[in-house]
Amino acid sequence: SLTLFSSVAFAEQVPLEAPSGVPKQKHDYQSDVARLRKIVINSLYSHRDVFLRELISNANDALEKLRLTALKDKTVWDGEETLNITIKSEKNENGKGGRIIIADTGIGMTAEELTNNLGTLAKSGTTEFLQRAESSDATGTGNLIGAFGLGFYSSFLVADRVYVSSIAPKTAKNPQPAQHVFSSSAEESSFEVYPDPRGNTLGNHGTEITLVLKDDALEYLDTHTLQELVNKHSVFSSTFPIYLFTTR
Ligand code: ADP
Ligand code: MG
Repeated sequence: SLTLFSSVAFAEQVPLEAPSGVPKQKHDYQSDVARLRKIVINSLYSHRDVFLRELISNANDALEKLRLTALKDKTVWDGEETLNITIKSEKNENGKGGRIIIADTGIGMTAEELTNNLGTLAKSGTTEFLQRAESSDATGTGNLIGAFGLGFYSSFLVADRVYVSSIAPKTAKNPQPAQHVFSSSAEESSFEVYPDPRGNTLGNHGTEITLVLKDDALEYLDTHTLQELVNKHSVFSSTFPIYLFTTR
């Protein structure tokens, strides 16, 4: 289900960039990821709506995973905390540009998982996607997206920079949970992982994806556009409630 909430039009800009002095781990993308990101950024302009479907589907997967993990280990989720997805758009106060923030209260990721899950291609279908995409034109690639999905990297269809802030629940393997940020620009072939300069804003578990929109993708700041996209692609496939914060 999709519920609309109203919120302030101009939110304070969140300092997600690590202040100087904070140690950042810099990683190069695995070569497959670099190739996939290039295709995404250069040739899929007319399919860029898919980013929202992909991110909502990941949020839904993360919530489902938390619920399943909690069946065996009650400490990760007590059955009470709300499981949901929220979507907000924020215009920059100076009137130029803005960001979309998609958050879930799901299983989250540790710093190591941010690096491994977002910096490498673990998906079985993606290698085939890559091979076919590199041997076909942009229109052919469009059909491939429907068949394979593009996953997280579809963020770069609409965003110059993407921040993924996340925290995984406390477990034996993750005894001292800490919220970390994965940061990557569309231009660079590397990404950074560092402790979230805001501290813990996500509670015990969850993920928040901030898309700093490209100048030619500002139409997605319009909550009517977002609402239509959610209704068209995600409302019926998501098991968990989706809240869209509307601004006027
Ligand atoms: P897929 O969903 O097919 O595995 P994606 O590229 O969409 O591929 O996502 C890559 C991986 O990143 C996921 O498998 C998951 O491990 C991790 N991930 C992405 N989004 C989230 C999220 N919102 N919460 C937790 N993990 C996530
Ligand atoms: Mg996915």
